[in-house]
Amino acid sequence: MSELRDFVADLLEHRGAAVEALASDRLEVLAPTPLQRQLGWPELTHLGFGSQQAPGAVAIALEGDWLDRFGAILADEGRWSEREVRLPALVPPPSAPEKLLDRVLDLPNAIWRLQSMSATWTRCLMLAFRITALSDEKREKLIWLGFNLATGAPISDVLAQLRPALAQTADWHMPDAATKRVAGPGWSSGTLAARLRPLLEREAQDSMEPFLRAMRRRLERDRDRVHAYHNDLRETSLKRLAALNRTDGDRAEADRRRETLRVEAIEREYRAKLDDLRRNYALRVTVEWVQALEIYVPVQRFEVLIRRRKGQRMIRLDWHPLVRTLERPLCEAGPGLDRVRLVCDDKLHLTDTAGHAPCNSCGKPFCRACFPQGCPRCRHT
Ligand SMILES: [Zn+2]
Ligand SMILES: [Zn+2]
Repeated sequence: MSELRDFVADLLEHRGAAVEALASDRLEVLAPTPLQRQLGWPELTHLGFGSQQAPGAVAIALEGDWLDRFGAILADEGRWSEREVRLPALVPPPSAPEKLLDRVLDLPNAIWRLQSMSATWTRCLMLAFRITALSDEKREKLIWLGFNLATGAPISDVLAQLRPALAQTADWHMPDAATKRVAGPGWSSGTLAARLRPLLEREAQDSMEPFLRAMRRRLERDRDRVHAYHNDLRETSLKRLAALNRTDGDRAEADRRRETLRVEAIEREYRAKLDDLRRNYALRVTVEWVQALEIYVPVQRFEVLIRRRKGQRMIRLDWHPLVRTLERPLCEAGPGLDRVRLVCDDKLHLTDTAGHAPCNSCGKPFCRACFPQGCPRCRHT
């Protein structure tokens, strides 16, 4: 629930409100006039995010229309903003960079060597998405994903650590031109989409897993109930039919026909009920982009040389002094959630293990960054 609370606090502060956390599930908001008018709130409002609501507090949840109303606030100035974060105090660079690298970098088919470490600025992109799953019930979840645009690293975990630090930072600035120049350019929409897709898919799956499990349990329970009910009816009819088969006469013949029709009707109804269940439990998942924040942060940049057979390539990894954490290496195919990267022969792409897996059809391993469309040998996708 604190994810939602933090999001609402960020948003309201961004629109000029003074926000104070009263408890883990409560915010006190002093809203400026335009915001009061847009949200229909008085100047001082208490917001509640838990299931237990204090009297007089406005209850905010992912269900309901609050996210749409917050979205409307953002709409008139876009859903994108940028900030520069300065260090509150000087943080010395890490004293044993190689040891840090060893912990985040595992290259089974290549070797690496740290070439240099230097202080610079980087540009990080944080994206918020709302995932909605709709079947017999509805679930919504807000997730944040992020990348270091200068190194290519997926840094959702680093950003999750950074966010509380950012919330406490009074020192927010618009980035100046010099910082932007040093931090380097952003990504094309094609690059962003390609890097985002595997992460979003993974996140959507992971965050919906408990919901899916509960839904599967409900489906099984309903299916068992429907089966037991129709099975009882059918068994009874079949028993009656067996008894009738032992008797002779016109009357018995007519009864037999009626009972046979009844068994057919029960079977038909059972199939129709299963179809109903299938429709009821069909799941639709939508993923919707809510907000983007570009932050410019100071980093210690590691330049690392990667060698694979006769090829070599330089990659960058940043150490983030605000949270004293070294990010994981970039991953050019797959979500790259662990530290293992395989290096391809031709272009020295870094991918996660699945990004170099054997083709499902012909069994030959290939690099998913070189061939995102599928196996180069048999064209299997
Ligand atoms: Zn193949
Ligand atoms: Zn490749």
